[in-house]
Amino acid sequence: MPELPEVEVVKQSLEKYILNKKLSKIIVKNKKLRYPVPDNISKKLANLKIYKVTRISKYLVIGFEDELFLIIHLGMSGTLHLIRNKNNSQNTNLSFYHSKNLPEKHNHVLFDFKNFTIIFNDPRRFGFIKLITGDINLKNYFSKLGPDPFEKDFNFKYIKEYLIKKNKNIKNTIIDQKFISGIGNIYASEILNYSKINPFKNSGKISNKEIKKIIFYTKKILKLSIKRGGTTINNFLSIKGSQGSYQKEFRAYDRENKKCKNKLCFGTIIKVNISNRSTYMCNICQK
Ligand SMILES: [Zn+2]
Repeated sequence: MPELPEVEVVKQSLEKYILNKKLSKIIVKNKKLRYPVPDNISKKLANLKIYKVTRISKYLVIGFEDELFLIIHLGMSGTLHLIRNKNNSQNTNLSFYHSKNLPEKHNHVLFDFKNFTIIFNDPRRFGFIKLITGDINLKNYFSKLGPDPFEKDFNFKYIKEYLIKKNKNIKNTIIDQKFISGIGNIYASEILNYSKINPFKNSGKISNKEIKKIIFYTKKILKLSIKRGGTTINNFLSIKGSQGSYQKEFRAYDRENKKCKNKLCFGTIIKVNISNRSTYMCNICQK
C-alpha cells in the first residue's frame, strides 16, 4: 500500500504535468471503486483549470477553478499513468512509459487533457476518486486526520499529550492515522528501529527522549524515501512509470534474520506479529 512518500512522489510528478492545465473530460470505464465514482464528475470538471496539486496524508488533492476538489486515493494497488496522445493515434498500452503489460481492464478512470491522458488503474479497486465542493468541506473531510509529519503541529507537545493517554503499543499508535497521517506498516518498522524503541512498548510509557527520536527519524526517513522515489514493492510506480528505490535503504522492514544496521548493535532483525501485521524489530537494541 502506498504510504506518504509514495503518494508524495506521485504528487510531484503529477503536478509537473497538470498544474495550470485545463481538463478536457473524464471517462469513467468502471465506477465501482471503493466508493462509486460520482456520476456527474466529467460534467462538473470539464474545461476547468487546475490551480493546485497537493498531498494531504495519503490522498492526492487536485484543486480546480470554482472551488472544486478532486480527491484521489490509491488504496492498495492504485497507480496513475500518463499517455501522450501522439498524432491523434489510438491510445494503447504501448504508450505507457513503463507498464506495457498493465492490464487495460483495470484502467478505470481516464482524465483527458489536450495533449495527454492520465489513467487511474487499480486491480484491487480499493482506491477511490471523490469530488468535494468548497474549501470548508475539504477541511472537514480531512479533519479527523492527525498532523502530517512535515507540518508544524507534529511536534513534541502534541505527541507527548497524545501518547500519555494511549494504552496501546507504540507500533499501532504510529500507524494510527488519527495520530500522524501517512505512516503505514513499512515506515513504522523503520522509524522504531532507528529510534531503538520496542514496538510493543506501551505508548503512554514512551520517554521524552524517545519522542524526540520519533520526530527526528520520522522526518529523516520519509524525506530520504521521497528523495529515492519511494518504496517499490507490490509494483508501486510513480506517474512516469519509474520505480522507487527506498527498499534498498530498509534497516528493519523485510530484513528478517539479517544483522541490525544500527551503530554498535550486534542484534538480528526478527519478525513479530502485531495485530496481524508483520513488524520487524532488532532483538537487542529494541528490547
Ligand atoms: Zn539493533
